[in-house]
Amino acid sequence: MTKNVRTRIAPSPTGFLHLGTARTALYSWAFARHHGGQFVLRIEDTDVERETEGAVEQIVESMRWLGLDYDEGPIYQMQRLARYHEVAEQMIAAGAAYRCWCTPAELEAMREAQRARGEKTHYDRRWRPAPGKTLPAPPSDVQPVVRFANPATGTVRWNDLVKGPISISNEEIDDLIILRPAPAGASGDAAAFGIPTYNFAVVVDDMDMRITHVYRGDEHINNTPWQINIFRAIAGEGALLPQYGHCPIILGDDGLKLSKRRGAVSVTAYKEAGYLPESMLNYLARLGWSHGDDELFGREQMVQWFDGSHLAKSPAQWDPAKLAWVNAHHIKQADDARLAGMVREELIRRGLGDGPGADDVGQLALAAALFKDRCSTVIELADWISMIFAKVEPSAADLTTFVTDAVRPALRTLRDKLAEMPVWGKAGIGQAMKESLAAHQVKMPQLAPAVRVLVCGRAQTPSIDAVLSLFPRETVLSRLRSA
Ligand code: GLU
Repeated sequence: MTKNVRTRIAPSPTGFLHLGTARTALYSWAFARHHGGQFVLRIEDTDVERETEGAVEQIVESMRWLGLDYDEGPIYQMQRLARYHEVAEQMIAAGAAYRCWCTPAELEAMREAQRARGEKTHYDRRWRPAPGKTLPAPPSDVQPVVRFANPATGTVRWNDLVKGPISISNEEIDDLIILRPAPAGASGDAAAFGIPTYNFAVVVDDMDMRITHVYRGDEHINNTPWQINIFRAIAGEGALLPQYGHCPIILGDDGLKLSKRRGAVSVTAYKEAGYLPESMLNYLARLGWSHGDDELFGREQMVQWFDGSHLAKSPAQWDPAKLAWVNAHHIKQADDARLAGMVREELIRRGLGDGPGADDVGQLALAAALFKDRCSTVIELADWISMIFAKVEPSAADLTTFVTDAVRPALRTLRDKLAEMPVWGKAGIGQAMKESLAAHQVKMPQLAPAVRVLVCGRAQTPSIDAVLSLFPRETVLSRLRSA
């Protein structure tokens, strides 16, 4: 067992917790737990303009719901501005970074000239100090940025935990801006210390937080050489770097990148649609990782199994039908009282919270036990259970087919017997049905569907005596009265 494993998830608070981020959070969490290490939540909130109201709360709530407990955090980058500034100054002093006074207009002119010469656009390092080079006098009306002095030659290599060996030539990489002055009007630490860019803050944080393994989306592969170079510039050539693992994107069921425009992409949306957290965890885990042929598993098994091996190199496709199948399995396994609590919330949302018995969680749990085998979401379970509290409207076709003149006398007898029964319960209801059949020479396959249609609004349900026993007696009598 590796004792010092430290992983993190570093979402930007620009919206809800995206499914892709939830998946890498899950891998990071499971890896830390597997090794008895720590998992850190860091909020990368330096892009103030893209930040959305309530995003951090949503992220924290989604993590809590999924059960991805963190040992440290949330740590906010905006509270660490003095630290980034300090490191930037040390890098400048050591010659690993430098100030650049180029204005946006100058940069644009630079790129324009490069394009005209048919070159790939890049920063031409005009402010980068070099032996024998004379730098221009800094203009007094421009606030400089700080740029990283990226090694001009050589190749950055790393053995990616997911994709295997990757190498990118330094010639492909610019001298990246690592620190910018705060926008006009800023105050406090931002005004005093400036705002770091992503690739810089991430390195300072991963270093300070002693992160050993980074799992993230593969859109960050191109950032990794910068991060490795910056890391080495700060901590020395021989520094122990985090190991990076880049997971492929998740494709939608149409084969295109999963996106908001084409369906739900937030963890919260699935919570609201009646998916259990253990189902999301199970399904997200399998989208990019496997453990033999195991498709259905829980948190503990995942932690036990997840050692970072068997991560997929190619993109997985989001499959709503498979997610529903996974959820159906976990609903079947779930504790009835827990399901009852969720159904209760859904009934309240539907305005059915004050029906007689709707607040009786013990009774709802009995109902959950009876119907849960037929449901792939908690919403479906609530649909079943809501028939106890909401008026049902049998279809005209069902009424004609099942509530026939042949069965009506038996229905009346049954109603009378149910009204007189001393104790309302499954056994007595079953007995009353048998007696009603005998009295009128009808068969169960005639009576049961008629009762179902009238009381439940549908011709198919689990065993009818068990179903009726879930209803308040008065509800059953009044629905049978309509026959
Ligand atoms: N804030 C980055 C993101 O949300 C984090 C990337 C990383 O894990 O380094 O994509």
